[in-house]
Amino acid sequence: MSEVFNVADIFGEDVFNDGVMQERLPKKIYKDLKRTIQEGKELDLATADVIAHEMKEWAIEKGATHYTHWFQPLTGVTAEKHDSFISAPLENGKILMSFSGKELIKGEPDASSFPSGGLRATFEARGYTAWDCTSPAFVRHDAAGATLCIPTAFCSYTGEALDQKTPLLRSMEAINEQSIRLLRLFGNTTSKRVTPSVGAEQEYFLVDGNKFFQRKDLIYTGRTLFGAMPPKGQELDDHYFGTIRQRIAGFMKDVNKELWKVGVTAKTQHNEVAPAQHELAPIYEKANVAVDHNHLVMQTLKRVACQHGMKCLLHEKPFAGVNGSGKHNNWSLTTDDGKNLLEPGKTPHENIQFLLVLCCILKAVDSHADLLRESAADPGNDHRLGANEAPPAIISVFLGEQLEDVMEQLIITGEATHSIKGGRLQTGVRTLPDLAKDATDRNRTSPFAFTGNKFEFRMVGSRDSIAGPNVVLNTIVAEAFSEACDVLEKADDFSMAVHDLIKKYAAEHQRIIFNGNGYSDAWVEEAKKRGLPNIKSMVEAIPALTTDKAIEMFERFKVFTRAELESRAEIKYENYAKAINIEARTMIDMASKQFIPAVIKYTKSLADTVIAVKAAGADASVQAEALEEVSQLLAKTKQANVKLSELVDEAASMAEGESRARFYYFNVVPAMKALRAPVDKLEMIVDKEMWPMPSYGDLIFEV
Ligand code: ADP
Ligand code: MG
Repeated sequence: MSEVFNVADIFGEDVFNDGVMQERLPKKIYKDLKRTIQEGKELDLATADVIAHEMKEWAIEKGATHYTHWFQPLTGVTAEKHDSFISAPLENGKILMSFSGKELIKGEPDASSFPSGGLRATFEARGYTAWDCTSPAFVRHDAAGATLCIPTAFCSYTGEALDQKTPLLRSMEAINEQSIRLLRLFGNTTSKRVTPSVGAEQEYFLVDGNKFFQRKDLIYTGRTLFGAMPPKGQELDDHYFGTIRQRIAGFMKDVNKELWKVGVTAKTQHNEVAPAQHELAPIYEKANVAVDHNHLVMQTLKRVACQHGMKCLLHEKPFAGVNGSGKHNNWSLTTDDGKNLLEPGKTPHENIQFLLVLCCILKAVDSHADLLRESAADPGNDHRLGANEAPPAIISVFLGEQLEDVMEQLIITGEATHSIKGGRLQTGVRTLPDLAKDATDRNRTSPFAFTGNKFEFRMVGSRDSIAGPNVVLNTIVAEAFSEACDVLEKADDFSMAVHDLIKKYAAEHQRIIFNGNGYSDAWVEEAKKRGLPNIKSMVEAIPALTTDKAIEMFERFKVFTRAELESRAEIKYENYAKAINIEARTMIDMASKQFIPAVIKYTKSLADTVIAVKAAGADASVQAEALEEVSQLLAKTKQANVKLSELVDEAASMAEGESRARFYYFNVVPAMKALRAPVDKLEMIVDKEMWPMPSYGDLIFEV
């Protein structure tokens, strides 16, 4: 029987949360910090000193020896540098434990090795990390002992963002400002802040640790680069929501426990569609905290898997032939007094506000579909988006039957009567039915679906940070709100103006609405007719970052400067090139050192057998045929391996940037496929005893 514990007792026990702060900080300091957290006021050093001291005392009680500024550079993973709390020895040879306000709010890691896309020359290698006090610090327990982790943003000396978090925080400011503007127009005088709420469902695979280490492709790239399909895949749907096996259940229990302790609200867990695939979802929270927590989820999944003798694969496509993994990014807008702007209202005027919000989102998604698509692009996601797998690469919005009907009516017959009584705006729209939550008709093929009171962006890759997609969502919606407010603030007749705007947006952006099957070829054709972009790959998505319209918008809302966008595009091209280069080299390594030698041995044993069987006067035709077939595939493998090696060398000689990334996508990737094909065929013929690594079947059915 495994250990029993009470979730309520352990939840948040390792978090420097509001409760701890209230208990440990002097009243005035606590109030100052709260103001900083809620209103973004700057924290003075004296206050920071007191907070740092208390944070340190608390962390040391939890066993912490070190602290770290935990940040999210553009590598896709988090980074940290550990400093112990010790200070210089005293006269008597003892040491004190210290942690100053300065150390809390600002760090200065030598950042020359993090990608900056030309923003920071190596001679100006300084990067700064700054405390994001809106995301709570926590103590992490692992083999290193206990470490106080302080969530931070990471900038260059001149203030340019070198990370995922800085633009996210900026975009949250933008959407806050524009949402408040909008709410005021609708007579809301009480809400002070609007924050995007995000809940990220995380998919992952688990494989046995011993088998993992027998595959160089999993070790170096996180996915299999070769592998024939086993006799059974996911066609029986017997894994999805199936009973969770004991080994996995034990793992999930420990994951939950670890996450609860650091304040992550792990809520839902289940088996996913593919064999060995699972999902974990937390309860939604403020966007920046959700981003941090999603990183914690990914790290915890990996760490705990190792403790259980398994490996967690976060790659978007660990296995060809079965479903890949993604991350559903659920997004809504919440006021500080608990209202959700995406909740269909109970009264007509709430519904009008809701419809305007909805239409603004339609407009935002339609106008910046390319940016949303780009935000979900990473090398792994190329195997899902646009590769006949969920979700499609075309951005469209699913509204559900009822809302779509409302939209259509508005476009055709929109008509409004209005009256203002007692300062409260009452708007009745004759054509507007009651808006009930439309949760019945869930369209799983839509990349951007309205699900009752939130939008679900389903394109995000399983390994990627959710920061990027939320930066885009926040900013494009801020832009749409801002443009709507520009019109409405000037209007003489507010109700009529709102109504006209809803009608206009609905008509202009109706093309983005699609409630049908997003996986069908018919939709690809239809989308083309509608003029919707169908961007198939990461390298083709990256240019969206630096179009005039993107630069203009991001600069206007102070989320990115042109230089930051250009640097990000550059980093992405390089990240892509590096990822494919590693994959290609791994394939060459495996083919040269494992598959080709194994197959040569097998042909030798076949040739010996043919001679022996013939000598014995028996029929050796089956053996001879096998030898012929295997030898032919071996020759193809060799040729493809040589070709791939040549292309990889050619790529290595090219200058960094867009054209090299494109060369990898258009030339190297097809050559990788060409190498894989004969090897996968060989796997189906060669004696399993002689095959140099575990098969797909071994990996996904025997965890
Ligand atoms: P599913 O989409 O699988 O049916 P749910 O709708 O229950 O599951 O929620 C999936 C995720 O969406 C969870 O992380 C949940 O906390 C989050 N979520 C629910 N409501 C909201 C909301 N208003 N804003 C943002 N995220 C939300
Ligand atoms: Mg969902």
